[in-house]
Amino acid sequence: MVPRFQGLVSIGSMKTGSERRELLKAVYHEARVCVECHLHETRTNVVFGSGNADAELMFIGEAPGANEDLQGLPFVGQAGKLLEKLLDEIGLERGDVFIANTLKCRPPGNRDPYPHELEACQHYLYSQLELIQPTVVCTLGNFATKLLRGEPTGISKIHGQAEVRTVGPRAVRLYPLYHPAAALYTPSTLEMLRADFLRIPEILEMGPPAQPQSKGASPGGLEEPPDQPPEAAPRETPAPAETTPGLQPEAPPTDSEQLGLF
Ligand code: URA
Repeated sequence: MVPRFQGLVSIGSMKTGSERRELLKAVYHEARVCVECHLHETRTNVVFGSGNADAELMFIGEAPGANEDLQGLPFVGQAGKLLEKLLDEIGLERGDVFIANTLKCRPPGNRDPYPHELEACQHYLYSQLELIQPTVVCTLGNFATKLLRGEPTGISKIHGQAEVRTVGPRAVRLYPLYHPAAALYTPSTLEMLRADFLRIPEILEMGPPAQPQSKGASPGGLEEPPDQPPEAAPRETPAPAETTPGLQPEAPPTDSEQLGLF
């Protein structure tokens, strides 16, 4: 069993991407058999997240829908296609980023997540943040934005406003965006989402924010001293990008398919 994010032993000492990927795989294996809330009773697959496990940029949506539940991969329906199109417009593809959700299992009938489900599931997200170590985290829509900011301010008020926030164990540049599903049928929302998206490269260029000083600094916290300034702590050169291959419905993804770059 993998210790939860508060106890992921001295991540600061586990500098290599391959070590962090191995731990991420272990968290994935734990999530695949999770029974911490009732959603396990109705899910087909756990949708842990997919993409580059060493990504600078991470997207967090709400919860898997029907297609995601069947395939075990996030954002594989229409909203996912729009997300890919917007990524393409800024010169990125799925294999460059990591995509996850606040909930790893589909709420029946695509209902909104319940607070106790978000609470039960959030340690997986915090472990993902701790292990992937993204610089910029884009929250997609209200649920992810409210959960990660810990405040009720709605997406229409704060979309497109980047801020440094400590989320679980990590300080990140949090960048709230409209959910792509909301932009699918509302041209004005799509326009705002696209305009916000186009600013992602400039936010990435700002580099990683300083990390919390100690364990007690925020929920979670790091056991190691803060990261050195960004320039002094280059990331490993990522392995060549590999896009997540399509899967047959109900075929659970393999490690490499789920996590992208193993
Ligand atoms: N909407 C989400 O929030 N997440 C998905 O994975 C798919 C649609």
